[in-house]
Amino acid sequence: MGSLFKQQISGRRDETKIILSPEIYNRLFSFMCLSSYFSYFRGEYEEFGQFIFGKKVKDWLFFYDQTTHPGNTESAGAYHCTNEDVEDTITKLMTGKYDCIASFHTHPADSESGRCFSWEDTEFYIHKTDIKKGCLFLGCMISQPVIGDWSDDEISFIRYDKKDQSFIYYPDIYVAQGAKLIPLKKQTDLMYIGKDNKPYNKITLKDNVEIDRVYTIERTTMSI
Ligand SMILES: [Zn+2]
Repeated sequence: MGSLFKQQISGRRDETKIILSPEIYNRLFSFMCLSSYFSYFRGEYEEFGQFIFGKKVKDWLFFYDQTTHPGNTESAGAYHCTNEDVEDTITKLMTGKYDCIASFHTHPADSESGRCFSWEDTEFYIHKTDIKKGCLFLGCMISQPVIGDWSDDEISFIRYDKKDQSFIYYPDIYVAQGAKLIPLKKQTDLMYIGKDNKPYNKITLKDNVEIDRVYTIERTTMSI
C-alpha cells in the first residue's frame, strides 16, 4: 500500500517541525475517535472539523496550542465550518497573536481515498492562503488508523506555497509532553498530492480503483 502512495507524492517536504500541545493533540485524537465511531459502528460517513491556531516559536518550529470553541463540530457528510467556528476564527485572527492557523477535518473510513486530501480540500487551502498577512494557513487531515493498530496516528499537515504554486507537506509532527517531544508517525504516504501536483481525483481512475482494492483487502484482513 505504501509504495502505491509513494508514487503520488510530489509535494515539497518542509523541515519545519509542528508541535501540538497535549490539549490540541487530544482534540485531534478525539475527532479521530468520533470519526471512527461513525464510520465503523454506525456506517455513516460523516466529516468533522475545526480550526487550530499556533505561534512560530522559531523559523523551523510551529507550536499549536489554541483551537476554536470545543462544542463546535459539524457533521453533514462533507465538512463545512459552523458559523460559530467562523466567528471564533475571525476573532482570533483579529487579535494578531497567531502566526499560523490550520483547518483540520476528518475523513471517513470508506475507502483508501478517505486517507487522502481531496480536490475540494486543496482548493479550499489555496483559496485561504492569504487569510491574513504574515499568518500561514495549513490544511490538516485526520484519517482512520487501521483497526488494531492505534499507534498509527493519522494526522498530516500541508500548505500551499503560492510562489511555487505547489503543496508543501510537514512530516515532522510532535506532541509536547512536559519537556519532552513525542513524535507522531510520519505520514508522508498519506499525501494525496499527485503526479505533476495534480489533485488525487484527477489521477487516472485505474489508480483509484487499484488503491481502493488494496485498501479493502487490508481492512478485511485486519478487522476479523
Ligand atoms: Zn476533505
